[in-house]
Amino acid sequence: MRVFLVFAHPEPGSFNGALFRAARDTLQAAGHEVAHSDLYAMRFDPVSDRRNFTSVKDPKFFKQQIEETHATEVGGFAPDVEAEMRKMEGCDLMIWQFPLWWFGLPGILKGWADRVFAMGRTYGGERFYENGVFKGKRALLSLTTGGPQAVYQKGGWNGDIHAILRPIQRGVLRFTGWDVLAPNIVFAPVRVTDEQRQASLRAWAERLRGIESERPIDVGEY
Ligand SMILES: Cc1cc2nc3c(=O)[nH]c(=O)nc-3n(C[C@H](O)[C@H](O)[C@H](O)COP(=O)(O)OP(=O)(O)OC[C@H]3O[C@@H](n4cnc5c(N)ncnc54)[C@H](O)[C@@H]3O)c2cc1C
Repeated sequence: MRVFLVFAHPEPGSFNGALFRAARDTLQAAGHEVAHSDLYAMRFDPVSDRRNFTSVKDPKFFKQQIEETHATEVGGFAPDVEAEMRKMEGCDLMIWQFPLWWFGLPGILKGWADRVFAMGRTYGGERFYENGVFKGKRALLSLTTGGPQAVYQKGGWNGDIHAILRPIQRGVLRFTGWDVLAPNIVFAPVRVTDEQRQASLRAWAERLRGIESERPIDVGEY
């Protein structure tokens, strides 16, 4: 498999950093081809505007999706966006490694998605959901939380973690055709023992060794 890891944490020594390296090393050792984007290390620019393009469709009024459709036709994406699109298009499995921030993606990863998932190139023209551009490819969210698992139950203090992830799993990934695998969630790594953290890293590596045979999940509806 060709795997693309997107890593979004400002501290390489964080537990997210450990999960990212565990994935990279395990998948490489299993013989897979692994590409990655370490967004903070790359200083990836998450601001989405005319900087996404080398081409211009309408110089007077900026409408992102119209510029995206035009850039798709003329090859007008900025080099940083084009490079990420190619990594995504060239993989069989994409994994995002991030801490849950405000019930969502860290801004750098949200901005990456805002810029890289472009109309024309990655969706549109009847190509959505099961007929999406990334049909046949698989995607997986690997994340950590601050709160423990007990507060992320339906009706619980923070509510159902799967509902919290739905805007990403359905609204971004499934919307553009990816088959979504079950998320890897390490709850509250800061509150558990070092032994428990080591066990989480081992479990993640073990899961990745068998990832090729996993079936996608139902990302749910609203
Ligand atoms: C802006 C913001 C918004 C947030 N919003 C939310 C939210 O909505 N919901 C929520 O639940 N939480 C939220 N949080 C908390 C956040 O999700 C957690 O702090 C984060 O997920 C913890 O992961 P980490 O990688 O940063 O942990 P770290 O603090 O880096 O690591 C946890 C522990 O693991 C240890 N460790 C590192 N490497 C290893 C290793 N190889 N082996 C064993 N141990 C290791 C570290 O030393 C540390 O003790 C938010 C935080 C911020 C900053």
